[in-house]
Amino acid sequence: MRYQNTYVTLDTRLYHEQPPTPLERPRAGHFNTQVAQQLGWAEDDTLMARWVEILGGQYVPAEFRPLAMAYAGHQFGQWAGQLGDGRGLLMAQVIDNNEQRQDLHLKGIGLTPYSRMGDGRAVLRSTIREYLCGHALTQLDIPSSNALGFVVSDTRVRRERMEAGAALMRVADSHIRLGHVEWIASFAPDLLGEFTDYMIDTYYPECRESEIPVLAFLQAVVARTARMIADWQLIGFAHGVMNTDNLSITGSTLDFGPFGFMERFNPAWINNHSDHTGRYAYQNQPAIGHWNLNVWLPHFMRLDGVTRDALADCLAPYEATFMQHYQQGLCQKLGLPHRSESLSVAFEWLTLLEDNSLDYSNSFRALLGLLAPEDYPYEHQLLTTMTAELSPEAQQVWQDWSARYISLIESSKLAEAQATMQAHNPVYILRNSMAQRAITAAQQGQFEEVDRVFTLLANPYQVQDIATELDTLPPDPHAPQMPISCSS
Ligand code: AMP
Ligand code: MG
Repeated sequence: MRYQNTYVTLDTRLYHEQPPTPLERPRAGHFNTQVAQQLGWAEDDTLMARWVEILGGQYVPAEFRPLAMAYAGHQFGQWAGQLGDGRGLLMAQVIDNNEQRQDLHLKGIGLTPYSRMGDGRAVLRSTIREYLCGHALTQLDIPSSNALGFVVSDTRVRRERMEAGAALMRVADSHIRLGHVEWIASFAPDLLGEFTDYMIDTYYPECRESEIPVLAFLQAVVARTARMIADWQLIGFAHGVMNTDNLSITGSTLDFGPFGFMERFNPAWINNHSDHTGRYAYQNQPAIGHWNLNVWLPHFMRLDGVTRDALADCLAPYEATFMQHYQQGLCQKLGLPHRSESLSVAFEWLTLLEDNSLDYSNSFRALLGLLAPEDYPYEHQLLTTMTAELSPEAQQVWQDWSARYISLIESSKLAEAQATMQAHNPVYILRNSMAQRAITAAQQGQFEEVDRVFTLLANPYQVQDIATELDTLPPDPHAPQMPISCSS
């Protein structure tokens, strides 16, 4: 691997260098060979042969420089003060085969000075959820951390009950969270200039060409964050814990815990059971992204040439950027050109889904079966299932809507519309029930189901033979929602 450990060259107040605390008898959970190839990990025989020991914290290659980062954050709308890597370590920074910088961060690997009340560990259940989520989003082309693999161990960890300790080697383009800047502003304000230069030079070098690079950098962070959240809304992803310590300065996200992928469409859906007020409900995400940036940006006023007005100008395009990306994506999901007529049809469609609690992903995909039943037998079956769920009154609404929708697709552009729809409407999403089945098997020492789900999510837009009916089955509308909490 091409190492480039630069974080460790920054002021030592920003981190604490330490080795991981090994897990007992680590064993392979899953390994992402594609990520290993991308990182250059696969080209190193020692790394390949000893990956379980490395992820278990038993062996630290000489080129690694493990450290725990200090950061702070706003959690559920409240200033939480210092947080930091309480159970993870930045192990190494590398340049991957796409010339992209990547951080390797081992999560679940013991106490650090930032552990507060925690035990420094992660349980198998949450490790698998984070592993599959990063993979799912990455394969859907949504900015996200991903992972090289995970291990399970004999280390016992107390949560609501005793569980197996696990560790995940997270891979992300950056581990600098919005909360890093919040930490600096509170605890080491003299470092802000140097740290901002580091962020620009390392992650946004193109901003150096602007008259005021810091403003160009902040504009770029705002735009990237808006686009990521638009992607979430389009795919039906709810992060669950959009605290400022979980959003990165590259417009990506870290820490997947009580996330969920939308099943039966309900914009007010709250996946995280610990989120009693619904602050992080699906429909609130765009506004929360704005909220987070709005508490983050003022810290930069300390820098020369950065005024309150200039910062307001950086944030102002957030909504328009989000809207442009979201509306364009919505039209693509329907195979329609991006114009106002298409949008009104799109919003009527979403209302139909909501009123009938229809499955978000399956219903979008079913429209391919409406447009071309011969070419899309699987989707035609989805359509049959979907229409069978409509109430008698909704049948007429559906008839009218579908006629209007079809009339918007020019017959000469049908093939193009189908290709666009196929590329924007996944067949497979990571349903909570799906993750849960993989977790239950893994807790019994069987990782085949993790592997099968991993394979499905590697090609989410393709109908696959290894799928079962359960993989695409939405939950019973009358059953209580599966409890997914912050416990991890
Ligand atoms: P998260 O909910 O994973 O975003 O974590 C929020 C903060 O709590 C971060 O500073 C974590 O490092 C810390 N944290 C969460 N769980 C633990 C744990 N079991 N031990 C130590 N620190 C933890
Ligand atoms: Mg976090």
